[in-house]
Amino acid sequence: MVIHGGAGTLVKGLMTPEKEEQYKAALNEALEKGYAILENGGSALDAVETAVNYLEDSPLFNAGRGSVFTNDGTHEMDAAIMDGKTLDAGAVSLISGIKNPVSLARAIMEKTDHVFLAGDGAMRFAKSLDYKLETPEYFYDEHRYQQWQNIKDSDKFQLDHSLKKEGKFGTVGAVACDKNGNIAAATSTGGMTNKKWGRIGDSPMIGAGNYANNKTCAVSCTGSGEFFIRGVVAYDVSCLMEYKGMTLEEAASEVINKRVLEIGGDGGLIAVDSDGNIAMPFNTEGMYRAFKTSEGKKEIGIYKD
Ligand code: ASP
Repeated sequence: MVIHGGAGTLVKGLMTPEKEEQYKAALNEALEKGYAILENGGSALDAVETAVNYLEDSPLFNAGRGSVFTNDGTHEMDAAIMDGKTLDAGAVSLISGIKNPVSLARAIMEKTDHVFLAGDGAMRFAKSLDYKLETPEYFYDEHRYQQWQNIKDSDKFQLDHSLKKEGKFGTVGAVACDKNGNIAAATSTGGMTNKKWGRIGDSPMIGAGNYANNKTCAVSCTGSGEFFIRGVVAYDVSCLMEYKGMTLEEAASEVINKRVLEIGGDGGLIAVDSDGNIAMPFNTEGMYRAFKTSEGKKEIGIYKD
């Protein structure tokens, strides 16, 4: 089981030790919740949804509750989930008031014939399932409000985690391999601060920010979405494994440390294959991340070392 809480300018010393502990505790909790499902013989799909739900409910991360502000001062969230066994996928974007966007993405996958619903239509679908809507206060976060205030009258839009000061960072994601060797990926985000005109990032786009295929790998990305879309990043990792015979580690590193950089993007990804190998490359100063394996290896990291 591997999870992330966003990549970006995470430099040692810029965060108070208390904040650092809070992030680590949240990552640990999400990881353990997902891992417990795998340990009890549950599916990779359930594990990634559960871990992402936990991170969505935490105000520390830019997903669900902690989502960043759009140029209009609203929250528009994106999410996706994919099952590597069946290649079934569900995605949602431009939704507001939904507590757990990744679960709505899963409902789209399981309860409709479609893969991707957006905006009004996605909200109507949520209503048809009796989703309860949270108020804007639920999503309000003072730090993120200030981030938006700083750039709201400009054409700038920015990664939640690109400010060189203490911040609350991060799109969230999870990938997992279950006891049957099935893998899955899930990603959820509030996108980029000050985004305009119904901007959609890579996170909900199958193949860009999220992808899973038992034959190759399950991937969840974080970073400057525009570049991850152009690089079709998650699928590129899968393609390098399938067509070039690269290992998970080689493919993930080739994409993040070479291909994404070459087109000007920054960020990272987490990935797993059906043998349980994992990779977590990032080309930024840091990435909130954690993993646990069935061999008893476990790590929670923020910075490069
Ligand atoms: N990739 C996300 C987006 O562009 C942002 C992030 O990873 O924080 O919407």
